[in-house]
Amino acid sequence: MDQAARLLHSVFGFPEFRPGQAEIVQAVLSGQNTLAIMPTGGGKSLCFQLPALCREGVTVVISPLIALMRDQVRALRAAGVEAGALTSGNTEEETEEVFQSIDDGRLKLLYMAPERLASGAALGLLRRARCSLIAVDEAHCVSQWGHDFRPDYLRIGELRRALRVPLAAFTATADEETRAEIVNRLFDGEAPATFLRGFDRPNIHLAFAVKDSPRAQILRFAAARRGQSGIVYCATRAKTETLAQALREAGHGAVAYHGGMEADERRQVEARFQREDGLIVVATIAFGMGIDKPDIRWVAHADLPKSIEAYYQEIGRAGRDGSPAETMTLYGPDDIRLRRSQIDEGAAPADRKAADHARLNALLGLAEALGCRRQVLLGYFGEAAEPCGNCDLCDRPAQLFDATEAVRKALSAVLRTGEWFGAGHLIDILTGSATAKVRERGHDQLPTFAVGRDLSKPAWGAVFRQMMGRDLLRPDPDRHGALRMTEAARPVLRGEATVTLRRDTVAAAGEREAVVR
Ligand code: ADP
Ligand code: ZN
Repeated sequence: MDQAARLLHSVFGFPEFRPGQAEIVQAVLSGQNTLAIMPTGGGKSLCFQLPALCREGVTVVISPLIALMRDQVRALRAAGVEAGALTSGNTEEETEEVFQSIDDGRLKLLYMAPERLASGAALGLLRRARCSLIAVDEAHCVSQWGHDFRPDYLRIGELRRALRVPLAAFTATADEETRAEIVNRLFDGEAPATFLRGFDRPNIHLAFAVKDSPRAQILRFAAARRGQSGIVYCATRAKTETLAQALREAGHGAVAYHGGMEADERRQVEARFQREDGLIVVATIAFGMGIDKPDIRWVAHADLPKSIEAYYQEIGRAGRDGSPAETMTLYGPDDIRLRRSQIDEGAAPADRKAADHARLNALLGLAEALGCRRQVLLGYFGEAAEPCGNCDLCDRPAQLFDATEAVRKALSAVLRTGEWFGAGHLIDILTGSATAKVRERGHDQLPTFAVGRDLSKPAWGAVFRQMMGRDLLRPDPDRHGALRMTEAARPVLRGEATVTLRRDTVAAAGEREAVVR
């Protein structure tokens, strides 16, 4: 499993597993027959691709979706993995190449269209390829009663039996009849390890709050939950120490935990947390992997996590016992700048950085959500949901307003100053504050000077933050974090798109409104 976690990072470039993936990967790796029911977009390909890389021999992937197979093969090759496809779309050379890499013993993943199974040669081919695992995508195609029935899928069971290799079946179709049919036809009725877990953790209350005075906000949140076990996640080691100290001074049992501590000391904290009621651990992301405490009642983020996957994993440590649990994630423009610059300054190649920015955008989209947060979160993982009634935005729906004009004014201030300034200076210009810096640069002469007097400075701060959250503006690390316009903002500037923002955060930005219910 360690190797799988390493490859997750080095080959696929993902910082952590998505919900459910780790358990499935573990089962497949250990050679069990598995059936995983995952929503589309949930990340099932990884659940057979990773084990394929860890195991001896070749993993044969059967899928009816030829275009998708070809995409996956291309992506795998780009990541340096030996993968090939045998489909009707192949050129002769492509097929020749696949056979060559089979015979060289280089191939790790062989994608096959179901038609290939029809010929009597299929078994011989799989033997020749030293097939050690069969992965079946869209496994519901084996169901004769479904819309997607593929007669060729009926041969898969035979192949499994003849080769005596484990089989991992995947589908997004969860109804019981289909599942039973998959078990009958692919596994001869012998129940495989089955994974059917939606991503939702309905007992966890979701909430985000704009970070204005983080220490006070965390102290308030903890004070309302005195005596309950909780975790506060921080972005830096130093912060875990100071926050733990502040919590102790407020009368809580609280300890810091981070990767810089001696292993012994860390184990002690883990043991204490497991054992004691009502302890607060203030930790970096180093805390959590080995923690299996069912009654963690709350998780707070003093800083924005680095991706939506990390967020899900961290809040997911709360309420494993199914009883109500609460979360609160603080975020602000500094978090956005920090996370962006961590990506930009990392050593990853450009396409991976782009993907990391996209994953950060997903989390920011959740932070700046206009409606039910659970819908946004589950939607990201491919699961549809109704408004949940258990998040801050269901508790108190956001008031929305058409912010297109304000956003255009902000963009115009950014562009007219050459994309060289941060939000503070831009807001001075918009609100007509003739500060020394504004006058020195002649920015009081710009047509945008004072065009935004209708909003207060804190309200403009909220507009800029939401614009950064929507990735309309991005801080440029090569310009000391100056805000630059992104491609996504162009349609707004051209008048081809409108922008809806949350009024409450705009209006409340200056008022330090209590964020705890
Ligand atoms: P499906 O379950 O529909 O086959 P995919 O396997 O194509 O879904 O994955 C859906 C998306 O999720 C892909 O863009 C993939 O790159 C992404 N993804 C999968 N696993 C992870 C992960 N652990 N972290 C981040 N993104 C992931
Ligand atoms: Zn909700």
